[in-house]
Amino acid sequence: MSTDPWTTFLQLLESLIVPDWNDLIVLLPLLLVLGVVGPILSLVALMRVRYLVGRRRGRVRSMAAEPVSAPVGADGRPMFPPNVPFCEEHAVIYPPGARSCELDGGELIVRCPVDDAPRPASQQLCRACGTKYVLGAATTAMTIRRSGSPPEGGAAVA
Ligand SMILES: [Zn+2]
Ligand SMILES: [Zn+2]
Repeated sequence: MSTDPWTTFLQLLESLIVPDWNDLIVLLPLLLVLGVVGPILSLVALMRVRYLVGRRRGRVRSMAAEPVSAPVGADGRPMFPPNVPFCEEHAVIYPPGARSCELDGGELIVRCPVDDAPRPASQQLCRACGTKYVLGAATTAMTIRRSGSPPEGGAAVA
């Protein structure tokens, strides 16, 4: 009875179809890997690159690593932002932790953020207004946070 052509055809068909599906099912994880994990991995890689680029940009913007020369104002004299150690003689702005000029070892000056009064960088108390502030510790954390996301917007506005 197994010589029935219809049955033979069905068996042939089954032998053709079933292994085919098995192959597809075996391939399914591979397709999943390619279709789902692949994009996720490339996304993660992309985010890592963006994170690294952002971190590098933030480090440059924070100017915490090394001294930079002060920008020159409209009157041709160097400008020093408040609450940042600087050497007036050499027109150099120093990182928050610096206390003396690298060029001549002279004491750095800091301008009070409240009343602009100059004081030695080693002193934490402003003699003019009595404001006490610590250079360094808090400032570095603030600098890193500030340089994280807003630069693009600020640049667009300017
Ligand atoms: Zn100096
Ligand atoms: Zn002051």
